[in-house]
Amino acid sequence: MVGAALAQALRSNPWTSELRLVLLDRQGQPEAGRSWQGPPELRVSTVTPASVALLQQAQVWTDLQPPRSAGFNRMQVWDWAGSGYIQYSASEVGLQHMGYVVENSMIQGALLKQLLQPGNTAKLMFKESVSQMTLPPYSQSGLNGQSGNALASLQLESGRQVRARLVVGADGAQSHMRSLACLRTSGWAYGQHGVVATVRTDVPHSTAWQRFLPRGPLALLPVRDGLSSVVWTTSPRHARELTSASPLAFALAVNQALSGGATPARNPLLAGVRGPGQGSERPFHAPPQVVESVGPSPRSFPLHLRHAGRYVRPRFALVGDAAHAVHPLAGQGVNLGFGDVGALVSTLAHAVEAGRDIGELTLLEEMYERPRQRANVSMMAALDALKRVFVPQTGLLATARGLGLDALNAFPLAKNRVMMYAMGE
Ligand SMILES: Cc1cc2nc3c(=O)[nH]c(=O)nc-3n(C[C@H](O)[C@H](O)[C@H](O)COP(=O)(O)OP(=O)(O)OC[C@H]3O[C@@H](n4cnc5c(N)ncnc54)[C@H](O)[C@@H]3O)c2cc1C
Repeated sequence: MVGAALAQALRSNPWTSELRLVLLDRQGQPEAGRSWQGPPELRVSTVTPASVALLQQAQVWTDLQPPRSAGFNRMQVWDWAGSGYIQYSASEVGLQHMGYVVENSMIQGALLKQLLQPGNTAKLMFKESVSQMTLPPYSQSGLNGQSGNALASLQLESGRQVRARLVVGADGAQSHMRSLACLRTSGWAYGQHGVVATVRTDVPHSTAWQRFLPRGPLALLPVRDGLSSVVWTTSPRHARELTSASPLAFALAVNQALSGGATPARNPLLAGVRGPGQGSERPFHAPPQVVESVGPSPRSFPLHLRHAGRYVRPRFALVGDAAHAVHPLAGQGVNLGFGDVGALVSTLAHAVEAGRDIGELTLLEEMYERPRQRANVSMMAALDALKRVFVPQTGLLATARGLGLDALNAFPLAKNRVMMYAMGE
């Protein structure tokens, strides 16, 4: 997704549209402009308004907007152990939607459709991967940051060779390109799996529901055709039980997880804390009931946090999960990748405009790596802290957590700041 978005965003930018691009992927060619009939795919992304702006610039949003996807205008987050809850509404920050839930294959298909348009000179290679890569050594990047005349050279599995002024590794969390570039990562496995499923609810909705459960968070998100997507973080063993459950048993498990446990209620200590003009206290909303799982059987994915200490080398850059893989609890993964795309396109547009080499190390460090590391690391730290805060089910932290949710809910300024940050503003 992120690599194709970069290619199409470069094609759409007047400064970079003339760059000669090669996009290669080890998978077969996905369906271009995928049909949106039939049950949705299991893998979906919650796309923030900032990512929508990027997809609009890349001229693909018209193929992705509702009814091909679903917008959500409210969010409710609550806890299994405590009674605290928090509600967000897009109208509180003057927007129609807080974000959209789009199938990953729909995003890939829309990007590919544009990349295959006549006149588009990007060369696409599927079922292809890189076996060896040679980059200019750091010593050749020179004190003034020039990368010299030596190009990056790729040896492909098919025997072909590609030489380039800049190679971008966008090959996901297990990135082979990152290893070939000798860029190291730090991080850990969460020891948890993310179970994804599509379900039918008793009533259609446009709210992103998220409950923090003893084993991890469960999100119920609207997806197209009135259906919903479940993203449930849990133990590997429970993930196995869920992925082998019948459609009805899966629905029962989701309902129990969303409706069992403590009953949310406003903390009386915070009653009346809101000032005049700061909106009215809204009661807790019960989530819809899940009737059955539909479409492909639920699947699970192991979850990791992983971050590359460096994103660039002379004539090389990492984007997306290849640079940073995060916990899916706030649906930020692909949005961070789209943020990388925006920054790299601006960097390369600047280089072309200024007549600089697009593979120059100093340029990549200053305009791409530094701002993106700052943005990505602060989001990763926030997500990891959130995940840790919600683990204990008893004791002081669990009590403070309930109070914290209520307190945040009571102070619109702080709450809106959190919401804008999560929306990529
Ligand atoms: C359970 C779960 C739920 C998630 N939910 C959300 C969500 O709601 N919102 C959100 O923003 N994010 C979510 N994410 C994260 C999101 O899926 C990732 O951030 C996103 O897919 C990263 O995109 P990418 O293009 O960087 O990598 P990928 O999607 O992994 O794509 C990598 C591409 O590289 C290709 N490739 C890999 N290796 C090679 C190779 N050696 N040679 C050639 N090609 C190669 C692959 O075929 C693939 O096309 C979730 C993740 C999980 C696990």
